[in-house]
Amino acid sequence: MATTKSMDDVIIGLEIHVQVTPLKTKLFCGCDADYRDSPPNTHLCPVCLGLPGSLPVLNEKAVTHGIMTGLALNCEIPEVCTFYRKNYYYPDMPKNFQISQYDKAGGVTIASSGYLNIKLKNEDRRVGITRIQIEEDPGKLSYPGTIDKSAYTLIDYNRAGICLLEIVTDPDLHSPEEARLFLQKLRAILEHLGIEVTKEGAMRCDANISLRGGTRVEIKNISGFKEVQRALQFEIKRQKQMKKMKRTETKMQTRHWDDERRMTILLRTKEEEHDYRYFPEPDLVRVRVSPEMLEEIKQTMPELPEERMQRFMKDHGLSEYDAGVLTSSKAMADFFENAVKLGSTPKTICNWMINDVLKHLNQENIEINESKITPKLIISLLDLIEKGTISGKIAKKILVTMIDTGKQPEKIVKESGLLRISDRSEIVKFVEKVFQEHPGPVQDALTNEKTIRFLVGQVMKMTKGKADPTITNKIIKEKLDEIRNSKDI
Ligand code: ZN
Ligand code: MN
Repeated sequence: MATTKSMDDVIIGLEIHVQVTPLKTKLFCGCDADYRDSPPNTHLCPVCLGLPGSLPVLNEKAVTHGIMTGLALNCEIPEVCTFYRKNYYYPDMPKNFQISQYDKAGGVTIASSGYLNIKLKNEDRRVGITRIQIEEDPGKLSYPGTIDKSAYTLIDYNRAGICLLEIVTDPDLHSPEEARLFLQKLRAILEHLGIEVTKEGAMRCDANISLRGGTRVEIKNISGFKEVQRALQFEIKRQKQMKKMKRTETKMQTRHWDDERRMTILLRTKEEEHDYRYFPEPDLVRVRVSPEMLEEIKQTMPELPEERMQRFMKDHGLSEYDAGVLTSSKAMADFFENAVKLGSTPKTICNWMINDVLKHLNQENIEINESKITPKLIISLLDLIEKGTISGKIAKKILVTMIDTGKQPEKIVKESGLLRISDRSEIVKFVEKVFQEHPGPVQDALTNEKTIRFLVGQVMKMTKGKADPTITNKIIKEKLDEIRNSKDI
């Protein structure tokens, strides 16, 4: 596959941890998985606290979700997979080990050897998916202040034992931009699989990054696409500087992304894999995925962004670009489809969404479902344009207010006096004023049709776009006729 030479110097691989949010309970116990609004350390039991004598029981639905994600990422699903213990001494895991999966030493993960294609400036790129593994989430540590200066640490084990999928990519990414595009596409797929990635901490990313020939650095726990891009940009710059100063870092590092100070901080030199002392989890049996079970899951797979995009092109006549933008997030695609159901032509809705709604959302740095706009509101706005109550230009202004406030467009029109002027006698006054102020162009317009447009434009300017253009045009033509006639006499 073609690659850009200069960017090949940068090698990036991602590890994404995603919470399987549709699960009602934790991965190995019956504790309520909906922990977010609860007081710290209230969703606990002997199993997720790792008390002696407690035994884990695998949540069957976790396996289904692992397989679905594997299929969506073009992975192979082995018939048998296993759980392993990843041993490490750190307070976020009460057991001092994490039950995870492992693809070495005889271990097999739920899915492996997949890929995801992304489009980088019209160029198709294939990003390999090394493996997907099911594992438990550690507890949440809070460091008051900053991680390197904090005097103490708070631990909340409510999150410990929540089901995670760890998705590991091959080192196929070569720029921060590419990493962001990959994550965006992955996110849209996960959303279509029913995973609520926007919940706080539901999707977290670690990035491995190195310059060709240099030592790999792992940046831990970056949240948000823009943050990933920023963290990688910072790290590339830092590594290039170190290289220039001929300071070679020989040990693998783990660095923490501080999104407030926008810099990476050295946490520790990285453990080698053998430091984790992986071994098969003795308290869990092997998981067998029968061909029948796999077939059943394949049959129940929901529509994925790629298929949805094709459907938008086929059913609504959208271009590949438009359909691609609309399916880049589930919320956008749902919004579009709901608006289409309510009326107006798909292409018109699409244009308004991409050119105007998205533009404003990007400026505000929010997602469509975080804004106040609804499919119903945008359809009401398009109705007002169609009926001629407001001009397209004014609609753009109303739209911004609608996105910010969620007010009905009619109400915004009334409140702001943006109603279109279609009263003839009122427009006549404006036309007369324009004729007085621009005698030259008026003379010209008598023989040159094109100048009429200039005169209409002046009326529009005077009325801040509120005059009805059709009526204005008609009045101007009539006035010009009058002048012609008076000259004839
Ligand atoms: Zn529990
Ligand atoms: Mn992990």
